[in-house]
Amino acid sequence: MHIGKDNPIIVTKAQHTAEEFIQKKIELLVGEEEPFFAVDLEDVCNKHIRWLTLMPRVIPHYAIKCNDDINVIKLLAYLGAGFDCASKGEIKKVMDLGVSADRIIFANPCKQSSYIRYAQEVGVETMTFDNEQELMKIKKMYPNAKLVLRIVTDDSNAVCRFSMKFGADMNTARILMEKARDNGLDIVGVSFHCGSGQMTSKAFVDAIQNARTIMNYGIKLGFNMNLLDIGGGFPGNTGTENYFSEIATAVNRALEEHFPNDGTIRIIAEPGRYYVASAYSLATNVIASREMIDAETGDINHMYYINDGVYGSFNCVLYDHYVPEPYLLDNNESNEKFTSSIWGPTCDGLDCIHSSIKMPKLNIGDWILWKNMGAYTISAAVEFNGIPFGKPLYFMSRQFWNSVKAAFQPTRKTRRHNKPSIRFTATDCSNEIEEDMLPWLLEDSSEDTPILTIQ
Ligand SMILES: *Cc1c(COP(=O)(O)O)cnc(C)c1O
Repeated sequence: MHIGKDNPIIVTKAQHTAEEFIQKKIELLVGEEEPFFAVDLEDVCNKHIRWLTLMPRVIPHYAIKCNDDINVIKLLAYLGAGFDCASKGEIKKVMDLGVSADRIIFANPCKQSSYIRYAQEVGVETMTFDNEQELMKIKKMYPNAKLVLRIVTDDSNAVCRFSMKFGADMNTARILMEKARDNGLDIVGVSFHCGSGQMTSKAFVDAIQNARTIMNYGIKLGFNMNLLDIGGGFPGNTGTENYFSEIATAVNRALEEHFPNDGTIRIIAEPGRYYVASAYSLATNVIASREMIDAETGDINHMYYINDGVYGSFNCVLYDHYVPEPYLLDNNESNEKFTSSIWGPTCDGLDCIHSSIKMPKLNIGDWILWKNMGAYTISAAVEFNGIPFGKPLYFMSRQFWNSVKAAFQPTRKTRRHNKPSIRFTATDCSNEIEEDMLPWLLEDSSEDTPILTIQ
């Protein structure tokens, strides 16, 4: 990811929508054609508030694989969230920002041995497992770890399923617990994941009930079971708010039934897409186009080539089964629509975002907007063919900036080691882009954090 002085936080006087921000940037930077993300960090903050309001008993641990943007991690760390990390690299990334080890769950049931050792070195105690080999590996590398047994769920209604790869069934779970007891290991709780893009609240309810059954067995074996981890899978796109509150209601009710609030159980979750999906809007530029006539039907296919594709931000089309919707900035509903296809910028035929879609006619240089592009996009993107994918540009109102700016100031830890993670002073911002960007002015800031203002 390109983070650094190319990705300033742009502070605006008033609050703006991503669309307004994108429009403004395009107007101000005529001739600029690189793809970019408009990142609305206030949206991430609002998601957090909504989570705490609707599921007050469940402490969110953001799954950073979903989008490891350092400013998202900084903001969520500041707001008090925990983190779900799956590797040494993710643990390091979060801890380098000053997050303490007890706010991290190492939620990968199949870990490389050296990563387990690393978790021990840095004090990340809580980790998941779902098989006997892993149990024995942990016994060797980190016998005092606090183990969380991941059970399988019915994820048949999820967009991305995990059950074929992870999770012990009920019978295996019992056997694993006995094994752990015989080996003097410490199981503290149960976890599950209902699949990413889960489409029913029933999956959560059933899984919570199964977790209760397994926890009871653990208690019988003498374990101090004090952690329930209900995983991720919560929807995050704009328009899924009602569906999220429906899940929250079902989860709360199931928790009330099976885990009444008696202060003995800590309940956590591992939301990924919930937090970031709607905060990222991608702007791409039409860099080429051609018309192909179907030899059989005689129909014309308007082919558009844009400057981000399935190797970049649109890898979600392949990996996350996402169908992104193109949105035109000055769309006139009365415009005639034509059969079109939208292609990425690389030389691979696979690099296709839409093979057939009805759209008004576009010209080279036109911009296409893509909303809800924050989940499973930049975290898995590469610069195949030497073509960079969209860079994040963070925008927020001055009012919001004033309430969260401490999140983006260097942490004590990084200061002590004098190794700033993302830190650049206001003067560093005066690169060509921003100078061209009048009336975008540099904030007169004596702080370390870079900000730009738009009047
Ligand atoms: C991917 C993943 C998540 C996040 O899932 P979302 O659907 O993005 O909420 C959480 N926990 C684990 C273990 C994961 O693998």
